[in-house]
Amino acid sequence: MLIKAVRIENAETLQDILIEDGRIKQIAPDIQPSDNDTVIEGNGALVIPPFVDPHVHLDSTMTAGDPEWNESGTLFDGIRIWSERKQKLSYDDVYQRATEALKLQASHGLQFVRSHVDVTDPDLVALRALLDVRKDVAPWMTLQLVAFPQEGILSFPNGKALMENAAKLGVDALGAIPHYEFTQAYGAESIRFVGDLAQKYGLMIDAHCDEIDDPASRGLETLATVAYETGLKEKVTASHTTAMGSYNDAYVYKLMRLLQMADLNFVSNPLINMYLGGRFDTYPKRRGLTRVKELDAAGLNVAFGEDDIKDPWYPMGNGNMLDVLHLGLHATQMMGYTEILNSYRFITHNGARVMQVEDEYGIAEGKPANLLMFDADNWYDALNERANMRYSIRNGEILVEQKPAPRTTNFDQFV
Ligand SMILES: [Zn+2]
Repeated sequence: MLIKAVRIENAETLQDILIEDGRIKQIAPDIQPSDNDTVIEGNGALVIPPFVDPHVHLDSTMTAGDPEWNESGTLFDGIRIWSERKQKLSYDDVYQRATEALKLQASHGLQFVRSHVDVTDPDLVALRALLDVRKDVAPWMTLQLVAFPQEGILSFPNGKALMENAAKLGVDALGAIPHYEFTQAYGAESIRFVGDLAQKYGLMIDAHCDEIDDPASRGLETLATVAYETGLKEKVTASHTTAMGSYNDAYVYKLMRLLQMADLNFVSNPLINMYLGGRFDTYPKRRGLTRVKELDAAGLNVAFGEDDIKDPWYPMGNGNMLDVLHLGLHATQMMGYTEILNSYRFITHNGARVMQVEDEYGIAEGKPANLLMFDADNWYDALNERANMRYSIRNGEILVEQKPAPRTTNFDQFV
């Protein structure tokens, strides 16, 4: 396959991309096709690497309203409703809903997804289904699974054993939920437990950490300490960290040094954090997000995730990372022109670093031919105009092809 005349990641100059055996063989201007090459005319279109969603919950997806809608919109009502819905989980139920959500995501240009899976279930039903989903979708989607203790590790019966069982079954990463544990001490202990388990089984860590508007919620300092002291560092991700939006600046100043030493990743989930956050405030009402702009400026890796697609924690969601990014840029006030122009990295490269797939990710010679093509000159236009995604290509094969929907306008007849 030969892709002609595209702008790679906002570049001014046009390049051709030659693909052979599923990999990018050459990037250069004016490559001549050989006889059997399929030629795609880019005509100046934008090419970027595929979208990454490093944080979603595929076990609960597509369950919104069952058994009831979360009318209060709080995290804790979400957990209560999910704990009821969980009673009727079956392998087929999870397999079918998760696959449906992944297809929706793939249709919007996603090729890398990390899903948390609730393991506070003695039978680990959802995990068993998702392990099979991970295998079955592999040709078109790289899926990672995180053992997520939704109802706690120390605060749930046999929580530690369930985490270890999940590790043995083959998850990619271990989660935690320190802010939900009965006590701060349990929270800290749960993180250290996960640190030990991750080392024992050679796994990454991705903790739901301080997802609460409580400035006293300080799981992050323990998570960063574990990341630093174990040397796991970039294999560790702190998801949410919304309490950081409520910390005082003196504490954040001190914390930032540790975060930089630990070099861990952050995932912010703007849709869900804005939706669930600030629920106990009157006014002023907090945004409920972590300090994305400041963490990014400090050189820490921050990615955006979608978190929930139609489940007890979020009534909407359509698997489109453009919605996540659009709201994220507004909520974090990262809307300088250059910030918008480069903002695709929050849903591409930065997510790839969270998932530790960077070696096989990006538009460069020798890498797998995974890319998206948009009918736009640059990312600013692609995002602002919701430009048509003409192709999603994976290993040199077209996964998604999309033509702009035709639209007829009759304004002129009224002049
Ligand atoms: Zn989550």
